Amino acid sequence: MCGIVGYIGKEDAKEILLQGLEKLEYRGYDSAGLALCNEKGITVIKEKGRIADLRGAVPLDIQATIGIGHTRWATHGVPNKENAHPHQSESGRFTLVHNGVIENYHLLQQTYLQQVQLKSETDTEVIVQLIEKFVKDGMPTEEAFRHTLRLVHGSYAIAMLDADEPETIFIAKNKSPLLLGVGKGFNVVASDAMAMRQVTDQFVELHDQEIVFVRKNEMMITTLDGTIIQRDPFTAEIDMSDIEKGTYPHYMMKEMDEQPGIIRKISQQYEDENGELTIDTAVLKAIMNADRLYIIAAGTSYHAGLIGKQYIEKMAGIPVEVHISSEFGYNLPLLSEKPLFLFITQSGETADSRQVLVKVKAMGYPTLTLTNVSGSTLSREADYTLLLHAGPEIAVASTKAYTAQLAVLAIIAYVTGKAQGKVQHFNLKKELAITANAIQTLVDAKETFEEIAHEFLATARNAFFLGRNLDFYVSLEGALKLKEISYIQAEGFAGGELKHGTIALIEEGTPIFALATQQAVALNIRGNVKEVVARGAHACIIAMEGVEEAEDRFILPHVHELLTPLISVIPLQLISYYAALQRGCDVDKPRNLAKSVTVE
Ligand code: GLU
Repeated sequence: MCGIVGYIGKEDAKEILLQGLEKLEYRGYDSAGLALCNEKGITVIKEKGRIADLRGAVPLDIQATIGIGHTRWATHGVPNKENAHPHQSESGRFTLVHNGVIENYHLLQQTYLQQVQLKSETDTEVIVQLIEKFVKDGMPTEEAFRHTLRLVHGSYAIAMLDADEPETIFIAKNKSPLLLGVGKGFNVVASDAMAMRQVTDQFVELHDQEIVFVRKNEMMITTLDGTIIQRDPFTAEIDMSDIEKGTYPHYMMKEMDEQPGIIRKISQQYEDENGELTIDTAVLKAIMNADRLYIIAAGTSYHAGLIGKQYIEKMAGIPVEVHISSEFGYNLPLLSEKPLFLFITQSGETADSRQVLVKVKAMGYPTLTLTNVSGSTLSREADYTLLLHAGPEIAVASTKAYTAQLAVLAIIAYVTGKAQGKVQHFNLKKELAITANAIQTLVDAKETFEEIAHEFLATARNAFFLGRNLDFYVSLEGALKLKEISYIQAEGFAGGELKHGTIALIEEGTPIFALATQQAVALNIRGNVKEVVARGAHACIIAMEGVEEAEDRFILPHVHELLTPLISVIPLQLISYYAALQRGCDVDKPRNLAKSVTVE
């Protein structure tokens, strides 16, 4: 969600910052801005809309070797030019960008800034005005910065320029992501390593409540109290080709196409020297020690968690509860005696999940994060991490991270089940290989899904996804995908549930996507489809080989019944993609959405 970049060195800062902001676009934003500092002072340029609009507004002849940039995902105040960052203090001396939410901004304004005329509706502006106030009261900038941040409650990643001290970028972080990047004769800051990977591969982590003074040849990290911290850089292993679109029209299409390869890669990454699937012994022990697993997740990851529960309960025999992170943190259920918390988060930065992690850690419970981003906040803070190995996911709508989550959850369940002697006559590695091939067949059948999207969704106002058992959870994900990128209102339902109320919405031509991959309930789901067709629905049945019938619109290749979610979701991803395209939607950057949701 939104992002920050900063550069201090010898090169032309504006190009490095604009390129960095372009790399952060995938996180979601509604406006963007830059502050460039040279001998003439600080110039602020900001625009509502895309980075391309900002680029167009930056004067070509402006030269600066220091600057900060921002993409905003509005929380306080509408997305317009006035509310876009950077924000400046009353005199213009201080210029600041911020990601996050200042919870007590109103109180701070009432207490300290009654005399100041604020120029925006944002919570952010209060910070920069406060810093100026304390400087006017006599504090040096460094102290005013620190003092302000001690007063602030909430989440922040901050970069600030002081026109009177132009050789320093002032940085602060709490709960919102921010990294430092180290170069020869320059330093950078960014919300993630991808944004600055084009200038360096050496990055330094920042922890919450740390402040940094970044200069061309040095950076000083301190705590809010001023204690100096030494921290070594790490090498960001990001392949630049992973974050380029190549010849693909959209990242989403590239990422859907990568899915077969990712499933194969996951199988290899979780292999021991004998070629058997395995997970880290410490993680396995922690899982076997638990009397119950609590899966905590949001959005698509939550949908993966629902399937993960089935895997773990069926293969490993350990009870699992799946919770929405934003609910769990503020309404703790009764916990078992020996719980293990499993956080599923693509980015590893999801604020809703992190607040649960912080709470349960404080209660002394063991924690495990399943994420795509090594070194991310939830990965660093949990006791254990398992990686998805899906490569950077740039499209806002998650596709490959979801199938990767399912594959790793299956491996966790399988390895645990085997260690307990509960899994026999089932070779997950072989089944995953078959599944990867099946996914390949599906991504190769794009044209069929383009036709289905046209046939069923060209004029649809709404759509329903039905399934039973594992297909039900996939139908939730299918509905979410369609909503996210095509803006068609969609809902996923357990097949038997629609008639308990929602069937009232079925009209002539209402599109229904029904999944039928589960032998035990195949007839039941077909019965549910008959109920809605009798009321005018236009049904598209997607069934698996072995349970198919003449009425089906598409037959999925056969895979092991437990792994069907990895293949049945592929048509739903592709249908959503084409429905969005046909409607002229911005597939990779849907409105209002952010990739990593870093505010609660
Ligand atoms: N709360 C700030 C605003 O609404 C920052 C939002 C962001 O993280 O981009 O401007």
